[in-house]
Amino acid sequence: MARPDVEVLRRIPRTDDLLRDPRLAARAEVVGPGAVRSAVRAAQDEARRGEVSPDEVAARAVALLPSSASSLRPVLNATGIVVHTNIGRAPLSAAARAAMADAMGCTDVELDLATGRRSRRGAGAVDALLERVPGAEDALVVNNGAAALLLAVTALAATPAGARAEVVVSRGELVEIGAGFRLPDLMQCAGARLAEVGTTNRTHPDDYAAAIGPATAAVVKVHPSNFRVEGFTSDVPTEVLARIAHDAGVPLVVDIGSGLLGPDRTLPDEPDAATALAAGADLVTSSGDKLLGGPQAGIVLGRADLVERLRRHPMARAVRVDKTTLAALEATVRGPVPPVTRFRHLAPDDLCERTTALALATGGEVIEATGRIGGGGAPGHALPGLAVALPGEHPDALATALRTGRPAVLARVEAGRVLVDLRCVEPDDDQALTAAVLAALAAGTGTR
Ligand SMILES: *Cc1c(COP(=O)(O)O)cnc(C)c1O
Repeated sequence: MARPDVEVLRRIPRTDDLLRDPRLAARAEVVGPGAVRSAVRAAQDEARRGEVSPDEVAARAVALLPSSASSLRPVLNATGIVVHTNIGRAPLSAAARAAMADAMGCTDVELDLATGRRSRRGAGAVDALLERVPGAEDALVVNNGAAALLLAVTALAATPAGARAEVVVSRGELVEIGAGFRLPDLMQCAGARLAEVGTTNRTHPDDYAAAIGPATAAVVKVHPSNFRVEGFTSDVPTEVLARIAHDAGVPLVVDIGSGLLGPDRTLPDEPDAATALAAGADLVTSSGDKLLGGPQAGIVLGRADLVERLRRHPMARAVRVDKTTLAALEATVRGPVPPVTRFRHLAPDDLCERTTALALATGGEVIEATGRIGGGGAPGHALPGLAVALPGEHPDALATALRTGRPAVLARVEAGRVLVDLRCVEPDDDQALTAAVLAALAAGTGTR
């Protein structure tokens, strides 16, 4: 389009007039005044370049506005990976979302409404955890699994003289949990000296017994949750290790990682808090947003005196959780089966009808597909399922169109095809997902 003449330029609405436009004023309540100003300026610029006519400027500014005040966008998880770290790990149950929403304003997180006195912060979440894990004397909720372990090691390794006490850990458990984040570095941050025992593939009871000495503050056992060592391997079971630690008068901390509160027959290799405590662990640490299916949180369960020591340590204040996390965690523990658990139990038969409908609507093909637990948990544990292999010659372009559509859809590209797996999509979202797939296919990216 040619540059508009002076007459047209003069007709472009002024900023103040646009900001008073009821449509833009209403949107400012949602996205904030800054975003509205930016959109107004961009729309005026387009009009100056002759790309929109002066009387379209307000409507154009509305169209340019983001959909919310946050840049985070909802994503439909069509990967078949149940706990996907890059899209926020566990999706919360409706019950947890509702509890979180209720706690978002002012709430009685640290107040006894009956007496008007201050109460123990997060008591409801702690009580819920203790009801589910009766073998634990006390519990503490912190910011994430890493914080739980950091606080445990810091509080236990702190000696009155300020000396760096020693933490005994197997070389087979000095794992990197993701994105360059290494547990040995974390424990060193805690001010503990690491006494490494055994080798990468084998650690024996004698290795621990020989390493524990007067400077030992704790023995730490870490579940190497994101890989499996196979072949000539051995590690020391929790109950044996607990006996060795207790004989030496030292507590045993077990980082189980993924946060199962009790044993799960479908995940026989996954450790759980109740079993670890019954085997003699003094403290168990875990994440809230992996297999537990709750909000980002770290959970410490175990001996009352040790949990209290952690609670009283100054670092506890730096890793404490907010009211909405406490609400969501309690609702996850007390409430209905969380999405993560529902999703991982889906069998091919459960997925057949929905997957077939999606294939029919999109011209795709139903294939067998394997889901995963993900999130650095239960490596090698396959979840047999189904997926729709979408038509098209350009899978990467189609996957990009899906990711950048509305709603954003994260699919999997495998063997040159885009696979859409409904395992981790709520049935209520099937319609929106189908529409998003059709839009991405229609954009031509599938067949170009
Ligand atoms: C995931 C994991 C952590 C870290 O937990 P975050 O909640 O991600 O901080 C620590 N230890 C183990 C064994 C894990 O699997």
